[in-house]
Formats: sequence, C-alpha cells, structure tokens
Amino acid sequence: MSTPEGLGLRVKGVVQGVGFRPFVYRLATRLGLSGYVKNTGEGVFIAIFGELEKVKLFTEALRKEAPPLARIDAIEASPLTETPPPLFTVLESTKGECQSARIPPDVATCKACLSELFDPSDRRYRYPFINCTDCGPRFTVIEGLPYDREKTTMRKFAMCPDCLAEYTNPLDRRFHAEPNACPVCGPRIWVTDRAGRKIQTQDPLALVIKALKEGKIVALKGLGGFHLACDATNERACQTLRERKRRPAKPLAVMVPDLERAREVACLSREEEELLASARSPILLARKKRPFPLAESVAPGLEIIGLMLPYTPLHHLILKEGAFLALVMTSGNLSGEPICYKNHEALKKLSPIADLFLLHDRDIAVGIDDSVIRIIGKSPLLIRRARGYVPEALPFPGEKSVISFGPHLKNTFTLTRPGEAFVSQHLGDLENLETVSFALKVRQHFEKLLGTEAELAACDLHPSYLSTFMARAYAAERNRPLLPVQHHLAHAVAVAGEYHLDPPFLGLILDGLGLGPEKGLWGGELLLVKRNSFKRIGHLVPVPQPGRDAAAKKPWRMFLSYFRAGGLGGLKEALAFLPKELASEVKLVWKMLEKGLNCPLTTSLGRFLDACAAALGLCYENTFEGEAPMVLESAALRASQRIVWEPALNGLKFDLRPLFAKLMRLVTKETTEDLACAVHLTLVKGFKELVWTAAQRYGLTRVVLGGGCFQNLILTAELKRELEEAGLTVYLPRNLPPNDGGLSYGQALWAAWQAEDGRA
Ligand code: ZN
Ligand code: ZN
Ligand code: FE
Repeated sequence: MSTPEGLGLRVKGVVQGVGFRPFVYRLATRLGLSGYVKNTGEGVFIAIFGELEKVKLFTEALRKEAPPLARIDAIEASPLTETPPPLFTVLESTKGECQSARIPPDVATCKACLSELFDPSDRRYRYPFINCTDCGPRFTVIEGLPYDREKTTMRKFAMCPDCLAEYTNPLDRRFHAEPNACPVCGPRIWVTDRAGRKIQTQDPLALVIKALKEGKIVALKGLGGFHLACDATNERACQTLRERKRRPAKPLAVMVPDLERAREVACLSREEEELLASARSPILLARKKRPFPLAESVAPGLEIIGLMLPYTPLHHLILKEGAFLALVMTSGNLSGEPICYKNHEALKKLSPIADLFLLHDRDIAVGIDDSVIRIIGKSPLLIRRARGYVPEALPFPGEKSVISFGPHLKNTFTLTRPGEAFVSQHLGDLENLETVSFALKVRQHFEKLLGTEAELAACDLHPSYLSTFMARAYAAERNRPLLPVQHHLAHAVAVAGEYHLDPPFLGLILDGLGLGPEKGLWGGELLLVKRNSFKRIGHLVPVPQPGRDAAAKKPWRMFLSYFRAGGLGGLKEALAFLPKELASEVKLVWKMLEKGLNCPLTTSLGRFLDACAAALGLCYENTFEGEAPMVLESAALRASQRIVWEPALNGLKFDLRPLFAKLMRLVTKETTEDLACAVHLTLVKGFKELVWTAAQRYGLTRVVLGGGCFQNLILTAELKRELEEAGLTVYLPRNLPPNDGGLSYGQALWAAWQAEDGRA
C-alpha cells in the first residue's frame, strides 16, 4: 500500500502518570510518524499514521522501550480511516465510558530530581516538592480519572510560565508531569508549634533540623500522611516518643539518608539493598548490625530493625542537611487509629505528642502508610501492603465483580473486575470508629476511581467482626448476595489466586485466630481446597485458650494451658516459672482451666508461640499483635546451635504438648536462644511431615502456605526449603502479605468461584 497507514492503538496497563505520553511522542517523532496520543478512562489511545514499515517499528518499540514505571498489559489495534494530521501531538484527555485505567502508586524521588534538588544553580534548589514524570506523588494526589492535573490535589496551584513550558514541551522530562511545581508556583512548607501557631522563619527546614538535633519530636507531613520523627540515636528522644505515643515496645521504623548509612544500621543482602533503594521504597525488616548504633529503644529486644530510605525531596533535605545517621519515622497517628493526613486533624490529634509541626499545603487525597516488607530466602514477602504498591492491580483468576470486606485485624478490602483485583492499602484494626470511618472513606475513594459496581459481596465467617457488619450493611443497601468465607480457606485461596493455581491443592495455614465452621478457634490447619468445597484434613491438637481473646493479649495464659495439658505439674510448679506479680491472676486462670470455664479449645499456632515466649521468660504481655512470636524469633536468630527434637504426629494431627514439655524440661539446661531455635526447627520438621503425609495420602504435590505465622523468617524459609526438598511445589504470597492483610483478596476469589459455578 502506498498511502499512509492509519492505526488506532488502545494501550492498557499502568500507562498514566509514568511518562508514557511523552515517550510515545518522542518515539513517533523519531520515526517521522504523525498522529496523536491521549489519556482515556481505560489507558492510553494512540492514533498513528505513516508508512507501514515504520508503524510496525513503532508498535514494537512501544513495548520494548516503554518507560521504567510503565507496564503494558494489552495493546488492541484497529485500522483508522480519518485523514492523517500533519504532525504528532499530545491531546487533552477524554473521559472514557469504562474506567479501567490503572492508577499508579506513588514513586520515590528519582536520581535526576535529586541532583537538581541539591544543585544551588537549579531553580528548584532545596525545593521540597520537586518531581518529574518518573517520580513523585501519584495515588496520594489523584482524586479522579483520567489522571490529569485537574483531577489531582495539585489543581489549586496554577503553574508559572517556567513550569508550564516544561509541562507542555514533549521533549522535557516534566512533560505532563501532573504534580509539576516550583518555588514560584507550587506548594510550600511552614512550621507551627503544637498549638498550630505559625513560627516565623526564613528557613523552616533549618528550624526543624535544629529541633530534631535537640531531641524534640516533630510531626512531619509527608506523602501519604504524617510521620512522627525524632533522632534515632537519641535514647531520651525515642523514650519520650514512646511514652507520649503510649507505645511501650512496638518497634519504630527508622529512615536513613542513603544505602551507605543503611549498612551501618543493618546487615543487608544484595536483594535487601535493591528493595530498599527501589522506586517503591518500603520499610525493610532486616537484621540489626551489632553493636547497634541507634538507640536500643528503637526496637527493644529484637534482632530486627525496620528501615527505609528517604522517598520524598523533603525527607532527603532533612536527612542530608541535618547529617543524621537515622531518624525515627513512625506513623503519625494515635495508638490504634489510622494515619493522620490532613493538617487540622494532625494538629488536633498529634499535639500531645509532637513539639513541632512541619506542614505543607499539598493536600493528600487519601492517607496511606508506609509498606513493610522482608526478604525470606531471596524473595520479598510483604508484611504490610500500602504506599508504593497500592493501588496496583493484582491478577485475579475470577470472572466476577466482587467486593470483600476482610477480617477484623489488619483490615483491607478488595474490589474486583474480571481478571483483576484491587486490594486497598492497610487500613488498620477495626477496633474504633476512626478506623471504620477511614475504611469507609477509602472504599468510596476506590469505588469512585475504579467506577465498578460489585455483583456480590464476601466477608469473614465470624459473625461479630465489624467488617462482617459492614459487609451486611453493604449487601442489604445494594441488594447484593453476601457470602461468608472461612478465614483459613480465604488465606489459602489468596495465595492460590496470585499464582492462578487451580484447585485441588493443599493449604497449610498457620496463624493467630480464625473462626472455624463449627465456631472452633482455628489457627494451625491443613486444608484440602477444591473448587467448590474445602476440608480440614489435618490440624494441631487443640488445647484450651483460657479467657478467649484475653489469652491473645497475655501469653502467660497460654503458658498455663500448655503447662497443664503437657502434664508438667500443678499450679505450684507453674507459678515457679512466672513473675511473682502475676501470681494472683495466675491462680484465677488456673482455676478457670481446671473447671473448663471460658476455655474454648484452640488449634492456633500463634498461641503456641505465645506460650513458648512466656516459658522462656521473653514476653508475658503482648503490647502489640505478634510481640511474643517476634521476640521468640529474635531469640532463635541468636542461637548458637541447631537443636531439633522429634515432633509428635498422630496421622494428620500434630501434637505440640510433647514439644512444650520438652522445652520445659530443658529450660534450665540450654540457653534461651538455642531453645527458641529448637522450637522453630521442631515445628518445621513436624509441619513438613504433616504436609508430606497428606500429600501422599491425597496424591497432591502443590501446597500453599498462608497465615500470619509465615511472617516468621525461620519458620517460612526452613519449611519452604524442606517441603521443596521433599519434592512438593510450595507457594508463598508474593504481592500480598501472608497475614490478614491479604485475606480480603482470598475472600473475593472464593466468592467469585462460587458465583461462577452457580453456588452464590
Ligand atoms: Zn524525578
Ligand atoms: Zn513553577
Ligand atoms: Fe489470619
């Protein structure tokens, strides 16, 4: 054909807010093609005209040379009959009928912006909001789609001529960088005291740095919300922060200026360094360097430290100009509440904690915490999925639009469309009104951005979780069917979904608590999952959980339970292992156990780890969820020898009472560290045998691992290795946390499967 070819290309995937249109422009211009590119509600539309050969080259390069943050899922081509325009241009956006465009997550400051930030001759020298098409805020400023400045919280800042020139020049690296700004036209920072009174100063940053150096606590408005910051080398400052935040022991995350400093604080593998320095910039949980150069109260009693690198220009400026080794950067919230992300709300809530406030006027569309991740083996394992990851779509092997409401703790919700799922950021524990209303707000935000309407709803089987109430209200209001999904089934299906794994498969689910079908307290289960049903084929031997939920807060209660169940003696013997001040309470709980009062049976592995931590004198009270298992893990990491005992299995029942008895018999003979390690390794051996036996019996080779206990480094890495050595294929969560944060995704997928097969 001699006449110019016209081709319309619909590109789907992460193609907005990642410099895709300038890239298309440069590519088309380079090849001498005409046409246009525009953002649509479902991605990007390109009209391209020119010689057939060159159009072909263009289409190939589109995939091959796409910008680093872009991800192309599909390109649909169709012939165009319109008259070719003389040039290639970038058009204004149109609102699409179907909003399937991807909303990009926030991106850490790129190298090019960083060098401008610290270049005294640059017009953005020391400007805390510098960004470009490769970096900067995205999800946290987007209020609607398509992703254009008008639909972001940057809309109130009219660009100055210099910024506008960059924004409209297709060859500039800020071409259509929607949050583009400079000191002349963009957002600003200022400092107030705790009463919200503005402090007059030429240099707010210098003032903040000085305060931090003096050991003050500063509330810093960041990307997804506020942080509470203090000097991480200053023991007194860290203690004060803990006291004011009423957070006695939960580890505090720190921010270090660069990788070099990170290596002084933690022992880092290559994978860990890559993750730390990635554009997602999460908090990495890594092994503490010894001697530990930071205040011990940053992460007391733990071998693990949570650290991250600066991910906004503001962070870079403070860390570098203050020459800090590390700052504590913990979420700016009241204990148990969601992160503050509005100025007035932060001033109101955080004023009893912070001495000083660093505020700015770029509004945050929706609050989001830092993500938390650790490397297990060589693969990343998410602990908390939030900034940098959300709202990326996850693969979803289901055909239905589902909304699922998650569990009670570490709540998230999931919205799905055929083939893809959107899991919300970590919302927190649904234990107060603030968290519930935050969850509601985020859900409305997602619904607006995605423009999808769910056909059915899913929730946990637990009737009195607040998430279950929310689900019921939703289903009633919108007249949708509601499907309750068993907790551990949802854990198992969540992992399977990430890998497009079709049932049947085995699911080993180890966690704190989930309600079983007969209201049993589950937490150490081996499931056989089929497409339309599931069966609990193996489990831990149940023991009493004295006082139900109270036992989850007080590990010594489970110590008593296992002590008694393990036949280790009476009350007098048990008391000898516990602190004297607990004696009167202990006597009471012992009586409860004797009489079987409020002592439901549990198969929870989390509760067993609690009992062991108390037995070793490591933790008698969980001041935060998972504290006892965490200190137990840390003790095990310090072990000098690898002791393994013989696990007690009876068919597909794993009895932990003999393991506990063995531990107690050796408690004065071996070191705490070696015993903690022995507990881990014996569990690994027992669970391996359990899974192996079931795999033989049912003729299955694929096993998914899920539940909060798989946040544990030793348990997870060793069990995965053992099972693989035994010839099984092991699946661990990779885009979602193994804990309850990933549960809503599993609920949604199970519900979709049931609906597709006509069971819901
Ligand atoms: Zn940049
Ligand atoms: Zn400007
Ligand atoms: Fe769970």
